[in-house]
This record gives sequence, structure tokens and C-alpha cells, in this order.
Amino acid sequence: MAPVKHRKVVMLGYPSVGKSSLAIHFVKGNFPKDYEPTIENTWSKTFVLGSDEFELDVVDTAGQDEYSLLPQSFIFGIHGYIVVYSVACSRSFQIARGLHRVLVDLRGKGLMPIVLVGNKNDLPAHSREVKTEEGRKLAESWGAAFLEVSAKSPEDSKQIFTKIIEEIDRVEKSFSDEKKCRFM
Ligand code: GDP
Repeated sequence: MAPVKHRKVVMLGYPSVGKSSLAIHFVKGNFPKDYEPTIENTWSKTFVLGSDEFELDVVDTAGQDEYSLLPQSFIFGIHGYIVVYSVACSRSFQIARGLHRVLVDLRGKGLMPIVLVGNKNDLPAHSREVKTEEGRKLAESWGAAFLEVSAKSPEDSKQIFTKIIEEIDRVEKSFSDEKKCRFM
């Protein structure tokens, strides 16, 4: 069997949008009922996707606002980002937009696999503040993948982490194809 592929991703987003709930549901298999607000925690899980086995480290952050600085540990050695907002909180959507700007400033434009996640889509329609289309358009403008989910759903939580693994492969492949062309 091929060697286990190691991937490390960071979850970013405004506090309380559901970053920990998504990570814990995926890693531990249940939606946490009374999880303490995160300072910072790294969760690990080994899983098989297609014919590959992955060891995924998920850095679950305390959350950011417009004044947060991202430490170097969120930049170096990181393969991809899961940027989360809540569909019931337009401010969290604005913060997600700002976080992308900060990431581009720190990392440059190339090779940045991102999944933009609109969480809490199980909440009643009247609580919605961000339309699905707005999320989709923002992700498109970043060249990122987009998912709208609920951390209460086991399938949704898994889908996010599968998607970021796929995005990392896709972006790395397009980067190496581009490099090949430069030397033709
Ligand atoms: P974090 O600060 O971004 O890590 O957010 P948490 O995971 O701690 O979640 C904050 C609150 O939102 C908690 O009360 C969670 O139970 C709740 N929550 C998280 N995800 C969802 C979701 O998809 N739907 C609903 N209805 N509540 C959620």
C-alpha cells in the first residue's frame, strides 16, 4: 500500500460559527453538546479516501475578528484552509472575506487550497442572513470550493474534510502542471 499522506489544515472564522463542532463531529463521530470555547486545539484522524490513506491534522483555532493577526504557525507547513462562517450571521461572512485577504497577504496568491463553509444551514429560514448564492460567489472569486452545511449532520462534517483533501490535491496538481509548461 502507498505510504500514508500527511495533511495539515487550519480552521478559520469568527467565534461561534461552529468550527469546533465540525471538527469534533468528524474526528470523534458525534456533535458535541457542551464543548468549551476553543483556545486552540489540533485534532488528528487517519482515514481512507479512494486508494489513499491520509493522516489529517486539523488545527481548530479560537476564532478571529477583523483585528486578529494570524500567527506564523497558521501559515508555514499548512496545506489548506477551511474558512467557516454561519449562514445566520452576516458579520461572520464579512470576517471570512477579510480572512482571505489576510491569507493572500501572508502567503501570496498561488497554491492556497481553501474550502469556504457556510455552517448552520439547519437553522430556520427566518434566521438566515447570508444567501447560498453569496457564499458560492465569494468562493468562486477566491478560486475555492464552497459547501453549505450543518455541523449536526455527520455526512456534512465528513464532506468538508474530504473536500479540503481533494482541493489540496487539485491545487498542487495544477501548480505542478503550470511549472511543467514554464519549461517547455
Ligand atoms: P466555534 O467557536 O466556531 O468553534 O463554534 P462552536 O463549534 O463552539 O459552536 C458554537 C455554538 O454553535 C455551539 O452552541 C454549537 O452547538 C452551535 N453550532 C455549531 N454548529 C452548528 C450547526 O451546524 N447548527 C446549529 N444549529 N448549531 C450549531
